[in-house]
Amino acid sequence: MPRITIKTEALTVNEIEHFLRTFCDRVVAGEQELSDLDSATGDADHGANLSRGMRAVTAMLDEGSKYRTPGTLLKEVGMKIVGTVGGSSGALYGTVFLRLAAVAGEAEAEVQAQTLAKGLTAAAQGIVDRGRARLGDKTMYDAIKPASDAFAEQCQAGGGLSQALQAAALAAEAGARATRNMRARRGKSSYVGDNSIGTVDPGAESMAWLIRCLADATKLAKS
Ligand code: ADP
Ligand code: MG
Repeated sequence: MPRITIKTEALTVNEIEHFLRTFCDRVVAGEQELSDLDSATGDADHGANLSRGMRAVTAMLDEGSKYRTPGTLLKEVGMKIVGTVGGSSGALYGTVFLRLAAVAGEAEAEVQAQTLAKGLTAAAQGIVDRGRARLGDKTMYDAIKPASDAFAEQCQAGGGLSQALQAAALAAEAGARATRNMRARRGKSSYVGDNSIGTVDPGAESMAWLIRCLADATKLAKS
């Protein structure tokens, strides 16, 4: 009888650290791109804000960890982001990581697909709670909400963790692209009214990078 290998569909703390490092690198490399998007509609600081925080997260990871589980790592990252990223995105990205951490729990050694589905839903809801954003307001919510929906749908349909994350990344990227034709109704971009139309929202773009890095880190780790 052939041996059946059961693929573990859960994220370990090492995979989460790998995801965090690739997201940090992506943000630092894309700092100018994000600030250029923000200069079209806001105050041109999204790239600088986010990369300041992500450099601090990289330094924290390099120091070695006090954290032994995904939940404690994600919580440290959330707090580091709140303390280092300025602007609205500091509070919003901080909330995303703190909600993921809360759902992951401090004791669990791995994040199961179902837990990640709940975590992404809670993270998206965190943006609504903090920023009052709704779909179509041209914010990072327009990227994270379709991503969390796509992830949950794929999980319910029986897709594995990495497959569901690939669907989530595609949904986040489509969501970010769709903000180009929206008129900003939240944050500093809302001050420029119709002039916000024609550019992708910087927070939606960086959020799509986050989900893409999570998906690709997982794909690598599972392949
Ligand atoms: P600031 O707007 O304070 O200059 P950043 O430039 O760092 O902060 O981040 C701007 C991004 O934050 C926007 O592109 C948008 O995606 C997101 N954002 C701003 N305000 C809100 C809000 N009320 N709800 C959801 N997202 C928001
Ligand atoms: Mg800004």
